[in-house]
Amino acid sequence: MSHSADHHRAGSWQRAVWNGLRCRCPNCGEGRLFARYLEPVEHCPVCGEEYADRYQVGLLLPFLVITVVGHLMIFAVLEMGHFRVAPLLLLAIVIPIVLVLTLLLLPPVKGALTGILWYANLTDEPK
Ligand SMILES: [Zn+2]
Repeated sequence: MSHSADHHRAGSWQRAVWNGLRCRCPNCGEGRLFARYLEPVEHCPVCGEEYADRYQVGLLLPFLVITVVGHLMIFAVLEMGHFRVAPLLLLAIVIPIVLVLTLLLLPPVKGALTGILWYANLTDEPK
């Protein structure tokens, strides 16, 4: 199945991104976008839109997540510095938060990026 370059999607790009952020199909907003943690479904179970490996978010995904988590942690560490927290205790607090935040943010950010790519019809397939 291939789409032409001037293929227009129904709805707005904001709706596609919002659906992706909720890990839902950017097209219908109902079907699940991921079969497992970060693995897209082959087809949306509700509307049949094809995903599988069509939309490759690449290194933009870790870049965005690291940027967000990094800034939050810099702020948190600087704030904790006011309370003279011991360095090892600081690490014991910060490292688990970094891990959990990263793992929690990856699916919705990948969903949002998939929504953008889906809306713009930017697939890895030749047009
Ligand atoms: Zn769908």
